[in-house]
Amino acid sequence: MSDKDFESVHFQLKQLADGVYAAIATEDGLAYSNAAIINMGDQTIVMDSFNSIEAGRDLREAAEVLFDRAVSKLIISHPHDDHWNGNAAFDESTTILSTPAVLTAMQETAKEWQEDKENPDEYQKWIQGMKDRLSTEEDPRWQVGLERSIKLYEHVLATLPDFELRLPDETFQGNQTFVGTKRKVELISVGPVHSTDDCYLVLPDDGIVFLADIGFFRMQPFMGFCDINAWRKQIDHQLAGEYEVFVPGHGDVGGKAELAELRKYMDAMEKLVSETLSEVDEEAARQVEPPAPFDAWLMGGMGRLEANINYLIKHLQGQEDTTKPN
Ligand SMILES: [Zn+2]
Repeated sequence: MSDKDFESVHFQLKQLADGVYAAIATEDGLAYSNAAIINMGDQTIVMDSFNSIEAGRDLREAAEVLFDRAVSKLIISHPHDDHWNGNAAFDESTTILSTPAVLTAMQETAKEWQEDKENPDEYQKWIQGMKDRLSTEEDPRWQVGLERSIKLYEHVLATLPDFELRLPDETFQGNQTFVGTKRKVELISVGPVHSTDDCYLVLPDDGIVFLADIGFFRMQPFMGFCDINAWRKQIDHQLAGEYEVFVPGHGDVGGKAELAELRKYMDAMEKLVSETLSEVDEEAARQVEPPAPFDAWLMGGMGRLEANINYLIKHLQGQEDTTKPN
């Protein structure tokens, strides 16, 4: 089938090889993050299920339409729930897999969801706080981000009473290899990189890597709970490697150029925050902005910048939180 045979408002399907698709989140849909759909020949493997059940349903349908069978395995790349809030769109014919650490983090998030369901007032107040800020905010870069967040979380609040979570059925530790009749997929488990526990998929015969959130292309990465040195090591490993096609967790499909750009952003921000901390003070370090060309990524991305600076200050002061949940 061609790329155009399955349409969703939540994502765009991109065929990367025969039987290999990237589902790339649209700006206005409810997917928010990207997913992988892979035909193994005798079964279908999917990685990640998006940020909502609505988008997850379309993902499942796309996989079923593409390969005419149920999805056998759904692999969860890391604990951030924008990659697995759509799990409940998949039924028991799909086995959901994650590492034990990701399962533990998901169980914590499931508890929080339950609390929000029982007491939506807090959630409502939090959204109201963003609306109040938007009404006085004059920086368009913040305005765009706040508008997007308010829209997203108002949808979450409206659908909260019916929201269901599905947790993994099985866990794995370390690298795994899946061999189908059509291709081989390697699941590489790297521990704390972008989050407290990350994995990604390599299709060695196709030269394609589904990086999950080790990749953010043409946008700022989210570094809030990362290990910057481990992350750089993973990027360098791919830059030195033989594969040329990379699917990020956020942003469009890219190659080594996009990976190198991501690393440059991380290096530039670390340098800037570090110099400002030592030459001026922490207050000034909280106000830094990335140099060109990365300043173009700030439209709608000021919240992420704030989280990244916050992380870098802690990292540079040697105060990284080792008990962080995500
Ligand atoms: Zn993430």
